[in-house]
Amino acid sequence: MLMLLRRPVELMCLITLHFGPYPPALVPLVHTSFHNAIDFAPPQALKNKTINILAAADGTILNTGFNSAYGNFIIISHITPQNLMLTFYCHLEKIKLFRGSNVLRREKIATMGTTGISTGKHLHFMLATLGPSGINFIDPEPHFA
Ligand SMILES: [Zn+2]
Repeated sequence: MLMLLRRPVELMCLITLHFGPYPPALVPLVHTSFHNAIDFAPPQALKNKTINILAAADGTILNTGFNSAYGNFIIISHITPQNLMLTFYCHLEKIKLFRGSNVLRREKIATMGTTGISTGKHLHFMLATLGPSGINFIDPEPHFA
């Protein structure tokens, strides 16, 4: 059993793309065929509002930075009785915390943006386990409380 996650966005945001194969039309843009994440976005009418990104569970900021694909990103590490879990928050506008900061679930860590390879304001959220065999991305959706 993995830890339970809270939604990493404010309530009005919807899941716009699930974990699984990318829609074929997006593959040339993202250069990969599998979406190992879920995407959240606000309704069109709220796209110009500031949307807070929230920690999905208690943890520690493992890294923050900028990547040409993921834009501004945050990685949080979570220690569970079974393993080490990581959550990734991508395409951020502003990052509010530094590496090493401890965070509580639902704490504001960033604002939603469209940095990196992105077709509009959204959060690309990934969940992974880290173990002896390396990093393993899993579908976050069944793990929301
Ligand atoms: Zn995505």
